[in-house]
Amino acid sequence: MSSAETTTPRQAAPPPNVHGASVLTVDVGGTDLKSALSDAAGALADVRRVGTPRSVDHPGDAVVERTVELLNEYRLAWPDRPIGAIGMIAPGLVDEVRGVGVFSANLGWRDYPFAERVNAITGLPVTFGHDVGAAGEAEVRLGAAQGLSDVVVMIIGTGIAAAVFCGGQRVQGGGFAGEVGHAQVPGGERCACGAMGCLETVGSAGAIARRYSQRSGVAVDGAREVLKLAQLGDRHAADVVDDAVAALAFSVGQLAATLGTEAVVIGGGLAQAGEQLFDPLRRAVDNALSFHRRPRLLAARMGQDAGLIGAALRARGLLETP
Ligand SMILES: [Zn+2]
Repeated sequence: MSSAETTTPRQAAPPPNVHGASVLTVDVGGTDLKSALSDAAGALADVRRVGTPRSVDHPGDAVVERTVELLNEYRLAWPDRPIGAIGMIAPGLVDEVRGVGVFSANLGWRDYPFAERVNAITGLPVTFGHDVGAAGEAEVRLGAAQGLSDVVVMIIGTGIAAAVFCGGQRVQGGGFAGEVGHAQVPGGERCACGAMGCLETVGSAGAIARRYSQRSGVAVDGAREVLKLAQLGDRHAADVVDDAVAALAFSVGQLAATLGTEAVVIGGGLAQAGEQLFDPLRRAVDNALSFHRRPRLLAARMGQDAGLIGAALRARGLLETP
């Protein structure tokens, strides 16, 4: 795919009265593209969801075109709410400093300069960040980990990804930090990423459903059904859930020992299991540690729109930077 550079600077001068301006926030997902307007207080309005535009040859351009269309649609729908910046997020490897989508296996781009392209067309300042990183920032600034500085926000769904905060700053690692789901754990299986033993092959909601079906021969809707079956005494379900808890506890223990993590915030589909997950996980983490700082395990609070909220916070940061 071509990603010829343009020479337009990434950040144009913001329009006047930017502090009261709204921010357009866009979450480019593997299936859906979500968008909303965010006001100066961070509240979302007019949350919309459309299919993520796909293009084999120009996947980045297709997303940029859709984002520009959305900007125009929101301006028409909300004429008295001027939009002063755009905050975009996406999965995969993201260079947030340059606003570049480094790689997305699912969506198909490589080294695509999203922030620069959208800025060149709209003239607005644009941020382009990582979806889980943005959700993590929302949890740290407004949600479950508010006021804490050494935090890991883990999103456990089909896979597992994390946002890591040390001393109040998110660790970026050039876009490579936070791939907790693709770090080896005891008992881990062959992973779709090509490595052997990744946490998400055992500890994710996707793995719980898949491993239960493999063992029992019974198809299930998802991990929540397996958790229910485990409560009802189904042996295969209980084993699979125990394996997941052990794998997650291993990773949390490693993080706590390495980073001195104060709190691990768990979000995504599996977090909805509540105490059925949190209680055994707390005990397993406790058993794995001795003198270490014991991280609190907290449920994410920002909900499904955490990424949109985090993206809006970053974009608003551009407006508020003199
Ligand atoms: Zn992997």
